[in-house]
Amino acid sequence: MPPGCRLMAVVKANAYGHGAFETAVCLEQIGVTSFAVATIDEGIALRRWGIRGDILILGFTDPSRAKELHRYRLIQTLIDAPYAKRLARQGYIIRSHIKIDTGMHRLGFGVNERSEILRTVRSRNLNVCGIYTHLCAADSLLEDDVKFTRRQTEVFFELLEWLKEQEVTIPDIHIQSSYGLLNYPELGCSYVRAGISLYGVLSAPDDTTRLRPDLRPVLSLRSQVVLIREIKAGEHVGYGRMYEAVRDSRIAILPIGYADGIPRNLSCGKGEVLIRGCRVPIAGRVSMDQLAVDITDIPDAAVGDVATLIGRDGQEELLAADEAARSGSITNELLSRITARVVIRTQT
Ligand SMILES: *Cc1c(COP(=O)(O)O)cnc(C)c1O
Repeated sequence: MPPGCRLMAVVKANAYGHGAFETAVCLEQIGVTSFAVATIDEGIALRRWGIRGDILILGFTDPSRAKELHRYRLIQTLIDAPYAKRLARQGYIIRSHIKIDTGMHRLGFGVNERSEILRTVRSRNLNVCGIYTHLCAADSLLEDDVKFTRRQTEVFFELLEWLKEQEVTIPDIHIQSSYGLLNYPELGCSYVRAGISLYGVLSAPDDTTRLRPDLRPVLSLRSQVVLIREIKAGEHVGYGRMYEAVRDSRIAILPIGYADGIPRNLSCGKGEVLIRGCRVPIAGRVSMDQLAVDITDIPDAAVGDVATLIGRDGQEELLAADEAARSGSITNELLSRITARVVIRTQT
């Protein structure tokens, strides 16, 4: 990050499946003082776990919960002008960041709603300590997308210039999430809101970025072999009899399924698992709580063997980005869908 720029650690969605508690506590211990979440309840959970740093809520909070925003010292994103007005009327002094829509057209004040923005910055109940925008094509290095992104940052900085002319002291500013930092590292902001890169991965396997820091995945996902059975050629495994043994086969059952976050789209050999350092295909359909793998080619595989769904085992490694791509998605979705049923073990 440029000098003077600080990390805002995005720990929404249970820290992208990594465990918000484990992640936030670890980050606070190593000196991170700013966090972002999607919802007020995620923010309150961080406070209850003892996180003392700044916590920005990136999404909507019902104004009826203003008291909790105040009590838990959470920073609320002001998603548009009517929302800011409603929140200001609740009668609590609430720290806030104004979000500006510079082209994504999701949350934010229109970049041209200058008088509304000025009024909000001056509001007594909304203690505006930040102003930010979000890029929607920062992951792309295509000329047209780069042009669009540059335009987004330009109009944002033009707005800040105008606010300065109105004698507003510019609060903290932030624009970049992970790809914003990796492709536009030169933007001088107060914060980078890093999510996916913080967890040591990119969204897709073939993404190229201008900055290429040494990212290493934080997370491995492991299960174990709980049962091995032999089936005859012509027999089937799992729902819909989708796997048919072409030879006498050995099948291992793992107690992990789509309710743990393994995409059902990885059924029938689309996904692989590592056992004893070997890649083996998922046999048949992933069910809610289990899946089967064909271990015919690892004769020494045994009940109790570790099964790696994401991560390294010996010489082999299954990357979250590859698994995500095979399931038709991105790493962000794959990881954030790992559910609370999966036990988190931290390593130092
Ligand atoms: C989720 C989110 C981020 C983090 O994005 P990554 O691409 O995971 O780094 C940043 N800003 C906003 C507004 C978000 O919603």
